[in-house]
Amino acid sequence: MITSGEPTQQIRMHKVTAWALWTRPNQWIAFTAVTVGATLVLALSASQLFLITGKQVEAFLALILLATIQAEVSRRVERQRRILSSGGHINMTSVWLLPGGLLLPPQLAVALGAILYGHLAFRSWAGTRPGEAHRVVANAATTILSSCAAGFTAQAIAADNVTTTCVAACVFFVTNAVLTTIGLYLANPSAATLKSCLGSVDDNLLELSTLCVGGLVVAVLPYQPLLGLLVILPLLVLQRSTLVKQLEELATTDQKTQLLNAVTWQNGAEREISRVKREGGSFGALMIDLDFFKRVNDNYGHLAGDDVLKAVAALVKSETRTHDLAGRFGGEEFVALLTSSTKNQAVETAERIRQRVSELVIHTHNNEGEAVVIETQTASIGVAEFPLDGSTLDEVMAAADAAVYAAKRSGRNRVISSPDLARVTELAAVA
Ligand code: GH3
Ligand code: MG
Ligand code: MG
Repeated sequence: MITSGEPTQQIRMHKVTAWALWTRPNQWIAFTAVTVGATLVLALSASQLFLITGKQVEAFLALILLATIQAEVSRRVERQRRILSSGGHINMTSVWLLPGGLLLPPQLAVALGAILYGHLAFRSWAGTRPGEAHRVVANAATTILSSCAAGFTAQAIAADNVTTTCVAACVFFVTNAVLTTIGLYLANPSAATLKSCLGSVDDNLLELSTLCVGGLVVAVLPYQPLLGLLVILPLLVLQRSTLVKQLEELATTDQKTQLLNAVTWQNGAEREISRVKREGGSFGALMIDLDFFKRVNDNYGHLAGDDVLKAVAALVKSETRTHDLAGRFGGEEFVALLTSSTKNQAVETAERIRQRVSELVIHTHNNEGEAVVIETQTASIGVAEFPLDGSTLDEVMAAADAAVYAAKRSGRNRVISSPDLARVTELAAVA
């Protein structure tokens, strides 16, 4: 029966040759095959080597029950999180898989991981990202191997409970981080960065928080399994807070360039104006407009144009300081607010950005899918200063904008600041 509000799920069996898996890079498929293979070999060999006690079966059933209740309670939040996030390997399963690794023999830990990921895939993630079953399997194998690595470590060190749980949680975290990093790198080596592979600080803190909760579950489960219910509400709140953070990022960031979007930049700039009015000082404002950018689109297509925008945005970000505000104003126009800077300092930064844009070498593809290299992009930059060029943000940005137009008129690929602007206008009047 389908009730309203429930995601309708059509489980369609695709031909093996039509699986989205085969569109992934060969090295990623090979790595995933190794992790999945290792998980299966571990489960099969453990079932020959380890006997299962009654207590372990009880712990296994308790973990399945608690994890299922938690997944059901947080199903809507998890669906939203999954739809909004581009990554997706961060979830709450470590809360249950750390206890699984420490309290169960490996074959049951593997079974627990398979059941939890299967349940999430069909109940929480179904339909959120079609054609991604292979990613779910890859993530499940990674987390299960981390859980088993934690379990083997606990067996090997045989210390007191507190030390054992803490060391095992660290081993879980490191194993998971290493396997995930290798997987993400192999999925797209040319676009991989340290941050895209290792995840953000927040991603890693979330994973550590789930392991902390998992450590508490290890302590209570053998004696009072029902007390495990107490972690469900905090986990729901934790999941909701990560969803709120994702929504906040979406609302404030330009999705193409990852710079601040125009509204957020403007709000930040207004706050900086109030601060400078209160405390004194000045700030520089740069308006950066790419030269003849339309030609890039016309010659190579919009996707190549997007790659140029991303490269310039990354450059603007790297050439400004963390407390400066780098934003995308719109189209091929960027803005930067350089806090506590004079006009001369802002001109120096603008000159550095102009120079580096002209040196950019962008490897991309045209509309026909052929590899192309774009290395002739330049930018015209207008510089203004608050409070020298205006007493409001609009006035300062109008001065920077006028300077950009002066830069365009006087030949492009140059930096013009507002006093230069007066000179350029005078020269134009004389001519
Ligand atoms: P000028 O040197 O005078 O600034 O010339 P220009 O070609 O850079 O300026 P123009 O305003 O004529 O064209 C801007 C182009 O930017 C047109 C538009 O299609 C393109 N553009 C705006 N936003 C995007 C985007 O998000 N992606 C891509 N690929 N192109 C974009
Ligand atoms: Mg423009
Ligand atoms: Mg332009």
